[in-house]
Amino acid sequence: MKTLQTWNQHVVKKENKSLVLETIIRTSPISRAKVASLTGLNKGTVSSLVSELLDEKLINDSGPGKSSGGRRPLILHFNKTAGFSIGIDLGVNYILGVLTDLEGNNIQEKTVYFTNLSYEEISKKLFSTIDYLFERSPTSAYGIVGIGIGVPGTVSKDGEILLAPNLDWKNINLKAILQKKYNLPVIIENEANAGAHGEKRFGVGKDFDNIVYVSVGMGIGVGLILNGNIYKGNNGFSGELGHMTIEVNGLKCRCGNEGCWELYASEQALLKNALQQGITTSPNKEISFESLYKLAENGDKETIKLFEQIGDYLGVGINNIINTFNPQQVIIGNRIASAQKWIQEPLKKRMINQTLWFQQRDLQIDFSELSTHSAALGVAAYVIEAFFKNDTQPKNAI
Ligand SMILES: [Zn+2]
Repeated sequence: MKTLQTWNQHVVKKENKSLVLETIIRTSPISRAKVASLTGLNKGTVSSLVSELLDEKLINDSGPGKSSGGRRPLILHFNKTAGFSIGIDLGVNYILGVLTDLEGNNIQEKTVYFTNLSYEEISKKLFSTIDYLFERSPTSAYGIVGIGIGVPGTVSKDGEILLAPNLDWKNINLKAILQKKYNLPVIIENEANAGAHGEKRFGVGKDFDNIVYVSVGMGIGVGLILNGNIYKGNNGFSGELGHMTIEVNGLKCRCGNEGCWELYASEQALLKNALQQGITTSPNKEISFESLYKLAENGDKETIKLFEQIGDYLGVGINNIINTFNPQQVIIGNRIASAQKWIQEPLKKRMINQTLWFQQRDLQIDFSELSTHSAALGVAAYVIEAFFKNDTQPKNAI
């Protein structure tokens, strides 16, 4: 019984301490008395938990605040630079790495582009991106608190990448590899789930609890936030909607299916259609998303039409998703978000004409403002949340 009681006390204390820290993070700068009134904890408890948090360097206190009569109170601040997080969006043709403080502010970033590389070559670039961010991380109490990677594929609960068809990866335990190399906590997450989390924490999804985040890069992934929480499915494999069939007897996909949505509505579709139409953007006839974007920006009608076609096909798939989940908000994210001006109208037209009328009530379609950064910032935020949950408790606790 004694052990159980000690354990219970420890759990209560841990929860109270998290509550105090969360309150300070949310409302900083704040006095101890205000923390007590917001949390409902008594002043003595708050005082002792605040002392621990000060010792752990997660908060600072500074100069006296406004007095309501007696001695002027010391004001508490969240120490957002007590540690740093690394978030990586591992794309099919790029790696974007960000270094954030504990509030999730992006303070350093690096992007590397590539095409058709093997696992060995991509992992080298991944390591060098992580090293780059490590080297630029300011000195702090906790240093780098962990590494998060958003990947374009299905991830098991153990962080094993089971299948990333557009990278041609199968059964790679990236979590174990990175943990061994860096000796830090590592989180591997599907990039669409990470992007949905990034939008909910920092982007256009802040005020919504039922969100469908559609990440359109070379492929399409969908992150679902239902009733305020990410929905991962039974084994963590939800959101593979890029592979829902939208054309019977359609094009053959690398996943083994035919007529998959991402073959018609993603960057790979845009590039393929441009090639088929003989659109050239450089003397060596190489076509990229950026070069097509520039052509459209300069008013090239054929290229604008290609973007509009992507918007139309996006509408077809999004229509199916809306009818399934009845969300409050659909966010179009990743690189395609930058082409909003061309894809928005055809997408909306498709939905107005085809989505069940009652589904369109109270529904908002938004384009990501974080654009290419949603997944990297989202997975960096997951790392920070895990750090606060697990790693900041006294080492000698049960
Ligand atoms: Zn497929």
